[in-house]
Amino acid sequence: MFRVELDREACDGIFACLVRDDRFVEDDAGLATVDPTAEGVVDVERAGERVIATFDGDVEDATLAARACPPDAITVREEP
Ligand code: SF4
Repeated sequence: MFRVELDREACDGIFACLVRDDRFVEDDAGLATVDPTAEGVVDVERAGERVIATFDGDVEDATLAARACPPDAITVREEP
C-alpha cells in the first residue's frame, strides 16, 4: 500500500497524470482528483485543497504520474 497526495492548489489541469495512471481523473473544476471507485484505490479523503488517497498494488504508475506532473502536485509515499 502507498499514499498519494495531490495538491490541487498546485495543479494546473495539464493532465499528464491521467495518461500515466488512470486512477487520476478530471473533476468538475477541471483539476485532477482520484477516482475512489478505480481498481487499486483503497481510500480517498479531502483535506482542504489536498486529496489524500491510499492505493494498493504496483506503485509504478502513480510514480510515473508524479514524475510527469510539471508543478509537482503529486507526492507518492510508500506506507511503512
Ligand atoms: S499532471 Fe499535475 S498539474 Fe497536471 S492534472 Fe495531473 S496533478 Fe494536475
